[in-house]
Amino acid sequence: MSKRFGAINVLHPIDLAIEEGEFVVIVGPSGCGKSTLLRLIAGLVGPTGGRVFIDGRDVTDAPPAERGLGMVFQSYALYPHLTVEENIAFPLKVQRLGKAEVRSRVAAVAEALDLDALLKRRPAALSGGQRQRVSIARAIVREPRVLLLDEPLSNLDAELRVRMRHEFARLHGRLGATMVYVTHDQLEAMTLANRIVVMSAGRIEQVGAPLELYTEPATLAVARAIGSPG
Ligand code: ADP
Ligand code: MG
Repeated sequence: MSKRFGAINVLHPIDLAIEEGEFVVIVGPSGCGKSTLLRLIAGLVGPTGGRVFIDGRDVTDAPPAERGLGMVFQSYALYPHLTVEENIAFPLKVQRLGKAEVRSRVAAVAEALDLDALLKRRPAALSGGQRQRVSIARAIVREPRVLLLDEPLSNLDAELRVRMRHEFARLHGRLGATMVYVTHDQLEAMTLANRIVVMSAGRIEQVGAPLELYTEPATLAVARAIGSPG
């Protein structure tokens, strides 16, 4: 698919197939179109050309809610009038779960993200990193089969980033979810990805296993994005 904003080609026609259960990490310099690609998959914007398929179904015209995806975006908008607990539980409303089931699921993700002590607060009373953790909790509480993550750890301190990295790896293993993960962090890319997609100026430069891209970058842009020596 392709995407143009006004006169600017943000994505040139690109073609990307993601397998079920894969952990795909998208890297590339700021402004190269990573977030736009994720937003197209999510249905938050429509493509200028091309189609989006999920499970073989053409979802190009389907609204985000009908695509069965969990998402964590850079803006991580939370519902300001709801508490942390209610924010996390919100996606479960559409599933007819009992109160006890909702409470135990919320408690489990809250514990994983170190949010237990904050459950009664509202978003205005949280730091940026805490809000980001609530947004991750809300995205994973439904255990979606596909999870889109746009730099989900960018506002967190180093220690929490390491913990969350393990948490995403565990989640991937446990749920068998398909993960599409945008990051600037080479360590996150190298340790989490089954495959890395390197983007540059609205194009896909190279796609491959982490070690393959590291040892045999096709272009200088790939070497820069991956941190290959030489
Ligand atoms: P990345 O996530 O890789 O940093 P983005 O996908 O956010 O890049 O943006 C790619 C390009 O598209 C940038 O030049 C950005 O300014 C432009 N862009 C993104 N969204 C819009 C929009 N809604 N209107 C106009 N230009 C946009
Ligand atoms: Mg971005």
